[in-house]
Amino acid sequence: MTENLVIDAHADTLLKLYFGSLMRFSSQEKDPMHITKAFLEEGKVNVQVFAMFVPPKLEKIGLEVTLEMIQIAKEKALNENFIIVKSSKDLDYVSQNKNSTTGMVLSIEGAIAVERNLKILPLIHELGVRNIGITWSRQNLFGEGVSFTEKKTGRGLSKDGIQLLEDMNNLGMLIDVAHLNYEGYMDVMQFTDGPFIDSHSNAHSVCPISRNLTDDQLEMIASADGVVGVNFYPKFLSPTPEKTSIDDVIKHIKYITDLIGTEHVGLGSDFDGIATTPLGLEDARKMKNLEPLLEKEGFSKKDIQRIMGGNFERVFRKVWK
Ligand SMILES: [Zn+2]
Repeated sequence: MTENLVIDAHADTLLKLYFGSLMRFSSQEKDPMHITKAFLEEGKVNVQVFAMFVPPKLEKIGLEVTLEMIQIAKEKALNENFIIVKSSKDLDYVSQNKNSTTGMVLSIEGAIAVERNLKILPLIHELGVRNIGITWSRQNLFGEGVSFTEKKTGRGLSKDGIQLLEDMNNLGMLIDVAHLNYEGYMDVMQFTDGPFIDSHSNAHSVCPISRNLTDDQLEMIASADGVVGVNFYPKFLSPTPEKTSIDDVIKHIKYITDLIGTEHVGLGSDFDGIATTPLGLEDARKMKNLEPLLEKEGFSKKDIQRIMGGNFERVFRKVWK
């Protein structure tokens, strides 16, 4: 049997690099990177999804910021021997060359870049972007994000939001519902046929904060054959975030798999976007520590492969054209 790829479905590394380049010095001294090529190799991560998030104060030049992040990613790929993964064929290539290359997936977090003009979406696709998160935790033209304080908020997707789903479906781009509000989830369920993902959220029943997913949201993901990526942010992991460890990540995985099965959960670290990390998962080097703990928890080898990346791989292959 071919071993599945290990995939991390969300990191904010490009944002750190973007600000680092703006300040004209390496951000690494002040704010150490959670993800580098060497760390991914050491942590045995084969494919890293790099999100492109536009901070609220830069919203007006959102497209320009996103384009610069794509540029940073392309330079990084070229200089550090990453493959920008855009298709099943590229996933095959990474699978066959695990020891010499790492895959990089470009993803937009909060569709600000195409807010002013959705007609440029095919061009964004052409530049290599394959996944798009509809909103961040705020309102945009397409829908409303869940706030960091309240679970239920406002309306679902707008007319433009539904159009975005349709255009993404036509291009073979994967919808990411992380940060989207509850009503938006319902609309994605209604207006899209294929699987969608929630790249970096946890179980509300284990840690009841607004950004985490209720059982019925998790069930929606499963019924669409989608995947939720467990987030490592201590505040999303436990009501006592100061005491979190890698075991809390296992706890969320266990809860979600007990609820919706082992085919709908993966990893979405949120590395480089979180100020603190759980004990035992300080950066990408520690990703390899998850497997033995999953084994100890009683997961089969097949299930561990699914959780570590096989599930995301399945959905990427199904949706990307
Ligand atoms: Zn996020």
